[in-house]
Amino acid sequence: MKFIRSDLADFSAYTPHPGGVTPDPSVTPIDRLDTNESPFDLPEELKQKLAWTYQQGIEANRYPDGGHEALKQAIAEYVNESAGLLAETIRADYISVGNGSDELIRSILIATCLKGEGSILVAEPTFSMYGILAQTLGVSVVRVGRSLNFEMNLTEAQAASEQAAVPIRVVFVVHPNSPTGNLLTEAEQSWLKALPDYVLVVIDEAYFEFSQNSLVGELLQRPNWIILRTFSKAFRLAAHRVGYAIAHPDLITVLEKVRLPYNVPSFSQAAAQLALAHRQQLLGNIPVLIAEREKLLQGLAANPLLKVWSSSANFIYLRLQAESPSASEVLEGICQQLKNQGTLIRHTGGGLRITIGTPEENQRTLDRLTKLAIEVK
Ligand SMILES: *Cc1c(COP(=O)(O)O)cnc(C)c1O
Repeated sequence: MKFIRSDLADFSAYTPHPGGVTPDPSVTPIDRLDTNESPFDLPEELKQKLAWTYQQGIEANRYPDGGHEALKQAIAEYVNESAGLLAETIRADYISVGNGSDELIRSILIATCLKGEGSILVAEPTFSMYGILAQTLGVSVVRVGRSLNFEMNLTEAQAASEQAAVPIRVVFVVHPNSPTGNLLTEAEQSWLKALPDYVLVVIDEAYFEFSQNSLVGELLQRPNWIILRTFSKAFRLAAHRVGYAIAHPDLITVLEKVRLPYNVPSFSQAAAQLALAHRQQLLGNIPVLIAEREKLLQGLAANPLLKVWSSSANFIYLRLQAESPSASEVLEGICQQLKNQGTLIRHTGGGLRITIGTPEENQRTLDRLTKLAIEVK
């Protein structure tokens, strides 16, 4: 296919559930603990309400509301409430809605670095989509490391921000980070605040509802900061693909220019509005997931072969206690064997990331992992 861009030959498509043989779900239950979704579906009565909205309120022959006005209003209200800000601090013109936050990440890249005008900076391990989307757009990615507690290497980051071959225009951070679960430290936040105004700072708060720690309050005095959030995790709407960006209205206007006109289907907009209207109910089980996280953490930490880190999100990150050149193969082996037993987790960034599921799923994870860790020893 001579018409395809030459650099795309080496790419592979994103694999939602990589590797291994998945058992027959009619025989073994599949515990999907590899994508950080909520283990809880929408409650039945909310699904019924949504179905009613579809029947009575959505004209299937009409395009969606391309301006997302009602949804942006509802999001702005929630953002103020969630960050302890006065009502109307963040208004609808501070919000842009995307087909998942993935779309917003791509819009940010299109609006900043395309045509060789800039590169992006990430500290690994982190969310892989920044790098993947950048590469598909031909945007170069500068990668720096992290310390043992997963704080980004600020010396490396500072050097890169001053000397990168293609100047860095965007720094992507996750708060708390995926896959490692740690919040931005004071030092990291100070470094981000000191970046010059020609560098855009993207703070991805996909797990905000679990951490309850937001930097939204900073946006008012920082026109070069943008915060991303999603309905895919705590709000239990991964099926609907809705994410949003919060930033100064001038920056939002630019994101709105580069997105597709009808990017969020009417049904998904309705689902997100319904979720916001019932947020107390939907977010009400977060304490259950947090308690489960702490329980699983303790169970895994009791295993002398595993090194586990505390987490501010709905997942746990672990590595093997013993550093060894074959660690990656051992971890891959564990991942595959868990998969054969029906537990899907993610092998990423030199460790294993396990999403918190239902209490039954978490117990199975602990039992299976404990047994496997002893076998590989
Ligand atoms: C899950 C996740 C998202 C969400 O992406 P959507 O496209 O909204 O589903 C964004 N950022 C991070 C860091 C995530 O882990």
